[in-house]
Amino acid sequence: MLSGLKVQMKTEPNKFSTTGAPYNTRPCPACGAMALTHSSDYPSNVKPFSKRTILYCTECGLGHVPDAAEMLDAFYREDYARTNRKDREIDPETYFSEAHRENSRMMHRYYARARGQIIRLRKHGARFEHVLDFGSGPGYFLHLCEATAPCAFEPDLASAKYLDHLGARQFATLDDIPQDQFDVIVASHSIEHLAAEELTDTLSHLVGALNATGLMLIEVPQGGHSYLHLDGVRQDPHTLFFTPQALVEAVKRVHGEIVFAGAVAKPEIPRRETPIYTPEGAAFNKVNRGGLTVICRRPQAPE
Ligand SMILES: [Zn+2]
Repeated sequence: MLSGLKVQMKTEPNKFSTTGAPYNTRPCPACGAMALTHSSDYPSNVKPFSKRTILYCTECGLGHVPDAAEMLDAFYREDYARTNRKDREIDPETYFSEAHRENSRMMHRYYARARGQIIRLRKHGARFEHVLDFGSGPGYFLHLCEATAPCAFEPDLASAKYLDHLGARQFATLDDIPQDQFDVIVASHSIEHLAAEELTDTLSHLVGALNATGLMLIEVPQGGHSYLHLDGVRQDPHTLFFTPQALVEAVKRVHGEIVFAGAVAKPEIPRRETPIYTPEGAAFNKVNRGGLTVICRRPQAPE
């Protein structure tokens, strides 16, 4: 049964081509190189994404949908709430209960992911007082880490009542997020949903929102279409497709200092026979697994 579904669900580009004007005169949204040399169709049949083009950087392997801000605004206002968020009808008390967590596979998975992230952050000395979840959803992470001052950024308005229940302060815009404030920031499976042109400003603002000893954990799905066969994993509504190298480059570009980089999912993903990008350098860059995770901090002043 499952294999039948796989055949129908498009999860990989059909074809890579070389890029012409105007895209070949733009910098890569992750690493900044003038290397958007290839393009492909979007790896999904789901509208409106299916109609878009993906550009690839041959320096860091990033794939991105150019100029997607308008499409995303409309999409998250209309489709997303309707199709992906049916669980937002449950009352908050029930939602965060043990029983609900036990009975829902999705909740189980979200909590397992958040638990792993908290353990990893603790290993690097994180404190969980002022915590910001960027793209929090209803607030699984904030709930589980027991932040004393939980904060959230979540454009999906259906999440607000759950965040209210947790006592989370909510920021409506990026500029509302205060600087030099947080012990921990988590951006788990959220930045791959940004308009590519907003990536650098967003990461820059988030790194600045950390306090002097603060740590930010970013986790994104493996998005290396440029060198892997991401077969059978739904790709829409993503607009940024990160390779390990692209994630590292994006963080370094805003002067984040990386203290951990690793892939946290187990299954290996098959490599392309004729990749349009070949990972080089650190071992993490060559990883062919998912759950791409980095922990970074503010640039440290010299001693
Ligand atoms: Zn790049």
